[in-house]
Amino acid sequence: MRVDAAVLRGLNEPWSVEEVDLDGPSEGEVLVRVRSTGLCRTSEHLSTGVVPFPFPAVGGHEGAGVIEEVGPGVAGLEAGDHVVLLWEPACGRCRWCVRGHTNLCDLGANILLGPQLDGTCRFHAGDEDINQEFLIGAFAPYTTVPALSVVRIDEDIPLDVAGLFGCSVSCGWGAAVRTAGVEHGDTVVVMGVGGVGSNAVQGARCAGAQHIVAVDPVPFKRENAERLGATHVAADIDEAWNVVSELTRGQLADMAIVCTAVTETEYIGQALSLVGKRGRVVMTGIPRPDATHVEMSLFEMLMYERHLCGHMFGSCNPQADIPMLTDMYRRGQLVIDELVTRTYPLADINRGYDDLRSGVNIRGMVTFE
Ligand SMILES: [Zn+2]
Ligand SMILES: [Zn+2]
Repeated sequence: MRVDAAVLRGLNEPWSVEEVDLDGPSEGEVLVRVRSTGLCRTSEHLSTGVVPFPFPAVGGHEGAGVIEEVGPGVAGLEAGDHVVLLWEPACGRCRWCVRGHTNLCDLGANILLGPQLDGTCRFHAGDEDINQEFLIGAFAPYTTVPALSVVRIDEDIPLDVAGLFGCSVSCGWGAAVRTAGVEHGDTVVVMGVGGVGSNAVQGARCAGAQHIVAVDPVPFKRENAERLGATHVAADIDEAWNVVSELTRGQLADMAIVCTAVTETEYIGQALSLVGKRGRVVMTGIPRPDATHVEMSLFEMLMYERHLCGHMFGSCNPQADIPMLTDMYRRGQLVIDELVTRTYPLADINRGYDDLRSGVNIRGMVTFE
């Protein structure tokens, strides 16, 4: 079929919205009619090179829609199923999947390669093959993806926001609840409260944190974080340190979750300075690929038993956690609709990313008819 898709053709180039060909599903794949896709910062990281990815590529990974067609060999899914797209497939059989860490599935090695799992592409422009961001490519009204890259959701969950569960909600909520392991009474700092950080605030709130300190230079984002459960806000790290020190009588925070657009190396030392004994720092924002050196006090790391953690998918198991998170949303325990600041037709995707960069969106969404 012929569809319009937002394609990245080179480093630092804008999204090119062009008509391309899309193949139907091969073995183990599904064709999804996409309803909406979030303008996640990570998709922009492909164009800036923070996330190395081969061009040309259809972008977008934070989407939801309805299965239109299932390919051969697909069990447990059928046309008409409502699904959230997952930027990482899970095989269910590798060492990590069977140990309950499907977020670390060995198939994750394929998400930065470009083509589908069998090495061929589903999108084409004439003779030219076009890759799919993280096997997904949801900046298009239809996409063909691995059946292992979708999770079915109930039909009453609105598809115009459901895509958020596939990245910003699961990664942010999970970074707080699963990776950091926030418990009742904890003091939690969230550095950067955009799409992912907003949900880290919500995760900390759900887990019973006593104090949640949201740090962001943008006033609009700080105000939004307060509506989501932040008990205190700060515009920078020095202000945050003073707030945390006062709140904890100098013992400092239990967790700091770094949800900035990029995890710059200096942010790690800053986050570690905000946590006390047995403090845990979770790196959620993506670091630059060439970042190898961090300045931090190894002596304090040792003496205070501090932890520095990475995360994939907020340490969630999406097939179990996304249905749970959508249920929490249905029951009013998670605020999701209000996270969508603006919606855009696909043709305006570059305006959507301009708005993200200028700090006026928590989340922009591309929506399809
Ligand atoms: Zn994302
Ligand atoms: Zn696996």
